[in-house]
This record gives sequence, structure tokens and C-alpha cells, in this order.
Amino acid sequence: MSTEEAAGGRGPAEGEHAGIPDWLAATLNYCSRCGAPLRFGPIEGEERERLACEACGYIAYVNPRMVVTTLPVTDRGEVVLLRRGFEPGYGLWAQPGGFLEIDETVNEGAIRETLEEIGLVVEPGEIVGLYSRIEAAVVVLAFESRIVGGEPRTTPEALEVRAFRPEAIPWREIAFRTTTWALHDWIRMRHPELHPDEGHLAEA
Ligand SMILES: [Zn+2]
Repeated sequence: MSTEEAAGGRGPAEGEHAGIPDWLAATLNYCSRCGAPLRFGPIEGEERERLACEACGYIAYVNPRMVVTTLPVTDRGEVVLLRRGFEPGYGLWAQPGGFLEIDETVNEGAIRETLEEIGLVVEPGEIVGLYSRIEAAVVVLAFESRIVGGEPRTTPEALEVRAFRPEAIPWREIAFRTTTWALHDWIRMRHPELHPDEGHLAEA
């Protein structure tokens, strides 16, 4: 995992709800316990300003959500990506994955999302990386995974499913920085001879 890159997603921290992305702050107007307005400010006993309810004292902690993804690798050493059929990133390439549900482990979530999106049954293996996208309020976990069943298929979420040789990854059509980071880190792990940091992969 590349920590300097993972830290690169930090956006502006100033604003009415410092640290909370505006799109997320816009969903946090009222107390989910009593319905009174939430106020952003200092809270006794807390080290940073937070959203809290003056009526009932409820503190609305805002934390990133976990996105679990896999890099399914074929017997031939190709990585399977999908062309996204929905926003954000419509029409661009990404690995299968999605939000972890509250009642599943990261392995279960990664297996479920991969099956739902591209029809492959995978066995998550090594963690390729863990990446923060602060502006999206997510932490993205990427497993390398072995394909143990299923058949690749398109779905409403995946317009196209294709296995790419490491040398043939479509770098210019990747949906998210986290996908690029995960693919770079996977290549560093498995194909250091390709030198993903030297930029020539981006020209492929
Ligand atoms: Zn309240």
C-alpha cells in the first residue's frame, strides 16, 4: 500500500462543518434520535468540533464508510475489471466492489459484491491495499482474489467484463484513483518488472 498516495485524497478542511464533506453535511441537519436541529461546534469532553443535538445531547459522529473490492485474477494472471454501468464513473473501468453491509465481514462483503456485479465466485486472498478517499468519505479495501467459480457476465452494474493482462490495463479509462492505486500496488506485488511508478504504463 502506498501511504503517500492514500493520504493524497484530503480535501479542504475549512468550512461550516470542518472535515465533513459538504454533500455529507447536507444530509445531517436533524437529530436522528429526537428530530431537533443539529448544531456544529465544540462539545465538552470531545477533542474536535462535532455535530450535536442541543435538545437531547445526541452526538452525530460522522465516520467514513467501508467499501470492499476485489481484484479477481484469472489462471493466466489477468485481472478482471468491469466497465461501470452507473454513476459515478459511468462507462469507465473499475474493480468489482461496494459498500460493506452492517452484518457481514469484509471477506463476505467482497465475495457478495463480486458475485452480484460480474457473476464470479471469488476467494479473497492478500490485501493489496487500503485507501482513503476523504472527499467521498470512504475507505476502500482491495483484496487480490482467486476465481473459484461462476461465469463472468454483464449486469446492469457492469456493461462489460474483461480480463486484462497487467500490460494492457486501460489506465486512461479507469474510474477512480482508488482503482488506479490498487492496480499499481497489485502490479508492484506481482509484476515489479513492469515498474508501475515510472509512468510508461500510463501510456499503454
Ligand atoms: Zn436530539
